[in-house]
Amino acid sequence: MAILKIAKLGHPVLIKKTNEIINLDEINLKKIVFDMSESMLDANGIGLAAPQVHLSYRMFIYRNPDIEDDEKVNISVLINPKIEKLSDEMEDDWEGCLSLPGMSGLVRRYKRIKYSALDINGNKISKEVEGIHARIIQHEFDHLEGKLFVDYLTPLKRQRIRGKLVKEQKRRA
Ligand code: ZN
Repeated sequence: MAILKIAKLGHPVLIKKTNEIINLDEINLKKIVFDMSESMLDANGIGLAAPQVHLSYRMFIYRNPDIEDDEKVNISVLINPKIEKLSDEMEDDWEGCLSLPGMSGLVRRYKRIKYSALDINGNKISKEVEGIHARIIQHEFDHLEGKLFVDYLTPLKRQRIRGKLVKEQKRRA
């Protein structure tokens, strides 16, 4: 077991577009997923994308809100995911991110989406999801595109969040 270091706002890996995983055996995927799961639970997060742990790959894990079970069992893994909206309907809700500790923002997302991806064994999966489940997937998918939730906020709100984060980093240093 290894708790991985999580990249924070300002780290270049977070704004880089990630690479598709061509061969699942080429990287030690199961170990990465295991370590990412431990790291996400340790940080009390609900999602974690590979670039957040300095791995520029198109993969993320999240706690599936549609599975009510032990927290270790409800972790879903999406590899090389694609998403499409199922309607134009959008909704606002608060989001946080392990790369922006202590910060939150109101973000507008599509309410219903369909995702398709590979699972950890390389099997094709796809599903229609809505609400919080659709929101988590859109948030994590954005990480693969080098995008953070603050990119949806107004410049003023973004500046405030950056200011708070700098203060927090100074306090911890
Ligand atoms: Zn995030």
